[in-house]
Amino acid sequence: MHVLIDVMCGGIVAYLRMCGHDAVYAADRDLEDDDELLAVATAEGRTILTRDVQLATRAEESILLESRDVEDQLEALAAAGVDLTPSDEPERCGACNGPLEAVDRTEPTPGYAPDPVDGPIWRCRDCGQHFWQGSHWDRVCETLSRVRDRTTV
Ligand SMILES: [Zn+2]
Repeated sequence: MHVLIDVMCGGIVAYLRMCGHDAVYAADRDLEDDDELLAVATAEGRTILTRDVQLATRAEESILLESRDVEDQLEALAAAGVDLTPSDEPERCGACNGPLEAVDRTEPTPGYAPDPVDGPIWRCRDCGQHFWQGSHWDRVCETLSRVRDRTTV
């Protein structure tokens, strides 16, 4: 799914990217004005995710998120039919939304990342950030599975 996330909903950006969605965050592109957001959404065929009723009404495609709480927002997305299943392998950079590529086992990794011999590592083609499925990934998966459970009850 291609989405454009309003500055008020920054907490859900990384979750959507970890589910493989093409998620642009308005703050990353300095989109502050409703008109700018609407223009980008139309030009790039994106669904706007926002807490702003007026903006949601004006958008061609939008999902209104009423809560400030991240899990409630994710639940609203699940209820609207957005697939919140984490990708088997990360596809999108959590920092910039760029595409990820697997790092070869023999390549050196930056100090903050584990050794690629110990498990798969991915690198963002756009910003160079490295990713692996460590404890952070596990926490995201737990949150998403809790949200999916709440939605199906
Ligand atoms: Zn990146």
